[in-house]
Amino acid sequence: MKSKMTDAFQSRRARKSRSAAARRRKRRSFQIESLEDRRLLAADLTAAIDLDIIYGALSPEEIATIESMTPDTNLSTKTPPLTSPPLPSTADTGSAQFLPDGTVNGMPTDVLTIVLDFKDPGQPNTSDIFGFGTSTFDVTSFGFAATDFDLVANSILAEVNQDYFTELIGTVAGPVGQDLEIDFIIGDIGTPPPGISEYYFVQIGTGVGAPAGVLGVAGGSVIRNVGGTGPNFGIQVGDVVGSIFTDAIVGLGNLTPANALTSGNLAFTTFAVSGTISHEMGHTVSLSHVNDVGSIQPTAGAPPVMGTGAIDLVNQRRIEDREFSLSGLDGENGNAPIQHVQQLVDAIGLHDIIPNDGEQIRGVKFNDRDGNGLRGAN
Ligand SMILES: [Zn+2]
Repeated sequence: MKSKMTDAFQSRRARKSRSAAARRRKRRSFQIESLEDRRLLAADLTAAIDLDIIYGALSPEEIATIESMTPDTNLSTKTPPLTSPPLPSTADTGSAQFLPDGTVNGMPTDVLTIVLDFKDPGQPNTSDIFGFGTSTFDVTSFGFAATDFDLVANSILAEVNQDYFTELIGTVAGPVGQDLEIDFIIGDIGTPPPGISEYYFVQIGTGVGAPAGVLGVAGGSVIRNVGGTGPNFGIQVGDVVGSIFTDAIVGLGNLTPANALTSGNLAFTTFAVSGTISHEMGHTVSLSHVNDVGSIQPTAGAPPVMGTGAIDLVNQRRIEDREFSLSGLDGENGNAPIQHVQQLVDAIGLHDIIPNDGEQIRGVKFNDRDGNGLRGAN
């Protein structure tokens, strides 16, 4: 009996001591979290522009001037949701068939969707939420034939999907049977994607009124903040939340080979453009920048998607396959620790991959009237 009571007492003491240790651990971790939260909340609560800048191209003062801009929905070209049910007859989607019930091939598609608008010849100029415009994505400046437009656009979309899905398989953003609850598709500003209730555009083409040295812009946390809330700062469904300035990308110097982006090399062109797209869309879902040095990506040695020339990402790294960072430091915020893959999960969330569906929905082109992979000017 006595021994049993002693045992119980000792076990209670042990429990007490364990729980005190747990409280201490909890207190410590709470303090760490609250420091991080303060930083992230500060970033989240301030409507801001986020940039991808060429290494060494701008002075800190010039960067600061651009960074003082704030997103304004009124500056964006508008693509309001359809007020009547979508008309599937206008959607020539190849193997994927949009149906009037808002599904593709009978499977639900209605998740947060980013529409990549590669500006094709004949499309009118459009404007993002900062008032920056884009005109045609000139693939001939990259060394391709004009008829290679779809080839290049599809390759870039495929690599964005690699960044957000394939390369994250096995991380917290890609557990078995799940992936990030977001889709990327190709489409046109002005044409709402059928069956999708929350969508935003990124315009990809020659900058119109874009600042020199800037490869891309996007509104920080405009779609989701780190807590998963959004849209924020008055941004509306259908807004153009970012721009990719392909004329700045093709002009990147200090590359080996020197003609990497002008010789019609599909891999280099794809990585240079897709890296900037994934980077800018990362900003719209709360991600900050990360130092290239010391960052850890799923593939050892891969450059970080959220690296920037404003810190230490040299141009050569932009023609390599960049990946989101498992860990790293943000040199623009006092070397604050970042875990961008986890942050993507926090901001976007995960969903179950529907067998024979999830991978097929991604990459769907809509309103592809002439069946060439993109909607044409007609
Ligand atoms: Zn950036």
